[in-house]
Amino acid sequence: MNLDVVKLTQDLIAYPSVSLSSNVDVTRFVIGILDRLRFEVEELPYIDVNGVAKLSIVAKLGKGKGGLSLLSHNDVVPAFAEQGWTSDPFKGRLYQGKLYGRGSCDMKGPLAATLCAATRFKVADLKAPLHIVVTSDEEIAARGAWEVSRKSNLFSEASTGYGLICEPTRLRVVHAHKGALYLEIRSKGKAAHTSTLKGINANIAMIPFLQEMRTIYDLVLRSRKYRNAEFSPAHSEWSIGINDYNIATNVTPVQSVCTISYRPMPGTEVDELIERTRQSAKKHGLRFAVKFDGKPVYTPKDAPLVRTALQLSGTRASSTVPYGTDGLAFASRMKNLVVLGPGDIAQAHTVDEWVEIEQLHRAVDLYSRFIDHVCVQGRA
Ligand SMILES: [Zn+2]
Repeated sequence: MNLDVVKLTQDLIAYPSVSLSSNVDVTRFVIGILDRLRFEVEELPYIDVNGVAKLSIVAKLGKGKGGLSLLSHNDVVPAFAEQGWTSDPFKGRLYQGKLYGRGSCDMKGPLAATLCAATRFKVADLKAPLHIVVTSDEEIAARGAWEVSRKSNLFSEASTGYGLICEPTRLRVVHAHKGALYLEIRSKGKAAHTSTLKGINANIAMIPFLQEMRTIYDLVLRSRKYRNAEFSPAHSEWSIGINDYNIATNVTPVQSVCTISYRPMPGTEVDELIERTRQSAKKHGLRFAVKFDGKPVYTPKDAPLVRTALQLSGTRASSTVPYGTDGLAFASRMKNLVVLGPGDIAQAHTVDEWVEIEQLHRAVDLYSRFIDHVCVQGRA
């Protein structure tokens, strides 16, 4: 089967799989290709919070466990002509060595490169299995990746092997990114006209709790314990949000909501902070919930995967990035992960998003070398 990476990226862009709409059609299109390449495909469908059907897949070529996984998402951020796009964002346009269109860089181009690389191999050649994973909702809390990480049998088998998160890094090796933690704390009051003194103001119980959160806020910015110099910045903020959604000032606020977001790094004791917050909420009669607990991606710089990735990509040193990926969810199962993909993250989410065509071709070659190394030669 012959696939052209540019044409295939254009085909993928033509499906407007913005995160709020369904990604089922574009995923079915990908399944069609994987079927022809004789991959076994496991489907992980779900209905999202808005009632929209979503589909993630894990596909496998070859036998056994471990091997190599090429990980992509096929949802994209919104694009509207009124934002100032030069042409239709969902028609891939070629101009002076670049392919323009929503998702060209983040990350239908990289996904197309993984599929094109896969066409170069036959199942009989493989000593270790090759997996292609495509998720939904990466741009919204990585929901599809969580479905894969928690429920997929094939991913569970693949998780002892190597994973490449094919997000744009200009084909440089990224061995780590921060995690993402999101907590929500709620106080409940009773509504009444403020003139009556009959209400219960939900904000009052929140005040001593917020003071304790302020202590953690200072702690994580100053303490060495919450510092990891491999990242820039080396600390993360205990970012506190407050809201009572009260519109009429003559009505007692009936709810008060505190949100906390934090970007955990390897080696920083985030569980202690979660427990401390839970205890503080309890003490002040507030409801506490962990809404999202995304792990940092961290593969030690001297791990075999990182060394192999550097060797195959011809780069000297790996680095860390400040943004998150689906790795937030995959890292809870898969220990050997790097981010490595064509295109520049600076182009992601922009008007007139583009990817260099040369990067796409180089990615096909690099992923092919990776498949050959891990799956055909069976090397570490
Ligand atoms: Zn992305």
